[in-house]
Amino acid sequence: MPEVIEAPHEIITRKGHICFGCEEIYPKGTKMEVHVNKEDGEIYRLYLCKHCLEHWDEPWLDAMYYVDEGLSQGELKTFCNEYKGRTCEECKSRG
Ligand SMILES: [Zn+2]
Ligand SMILES: [Zn+2]
Repeated sequence: MPEVIEAPHEIITRKGHICFGCEEIYPKGTKMEVHVNKEDGEIYRLYLCKHCLEHWDEPWLDAMYYVDEGLSQGELKTFCNEYKGRTCEECKSRG
C-alpha cells in the first residue's frame, strides 16, 4: 500500500497533466485533485479530473477490485464502462 504524503487536495494545474482515472490529458489551468503518495521510497503524484472524482468514492468501484491492490492508471474509466448495469455516458464517450 502506498503511503499518503499529502492529503488529496484541489489545485489549478500549472502544466498539462494526464488524469489517473481516465487517461485524458488536461491542459494547464484545469481544476484537478492531486494525490501525493510514496511507494518503494518514491514520491509520486496522481491527478484526478472532476469527472473521475465523482466516481472515486462510489461503492461500485470498490466492488471492481481488491482495495489492497489499488487501481492502475486508466482502470477507473475501464471499470466504469465494464461494470454491469452501469452506464456512464461520459466514460463511454472516452472509450
Ligand atoms: Zn479523469
Ligand atoms: Zn464515468
